[in-house]
Amino acid sequence: MSAYAWMDEALCAQTDPDAFHADGSGHGYRAAASICGACPVRKECEAFADRLEGTLSHRDRHGMWGGRVPRRRSARAAATAKQQRDALILRLAARGGMSPEEIAATAGCEVRTVHRVTAAHRDSHGTAA
Ligand code: SF4
Repeated sequence: MSAYAWMDEALCAQTDPDAFHADGSGHGYRAAASICGACPVRKECEAFADRLEGTLSHRDRHGMWGGRVPRRRSARAAATAKQQRDALILRLAARGGMSPEEIAATAGCEVRTVHRVTAAHRDSHGTAA
């Protein structure tokens, strides 16, 4: 089966495509949101948009996908990236043998982020520093 087979069931393919792009005249995405809300392949659509858009800024995202406007998709992607980064920091810290500076370099963040994430984890698990 094609990786795109789900698109055969996409409700947006059966309606006005202009509804899925805000036109700058004050008409937003209300009609599109309603259609997406009833779409049987919304989850597949969201996952596709996530893969397609990656970590793009909301300014570089266009139209509605999976019932989400560009700003909401961008916020969701940023939250997912932060969760993944924090999980990596905690895995590396738990493994031991790396300095906070090395962990920061591996995770692509500031050293203070490593300290913040590990401290928050200790606080939430009631372990001593
Ligand atoms: S959820 Fe995705 S596939 Fe379904 S109508 Fe909305 S934009 Fe189209």
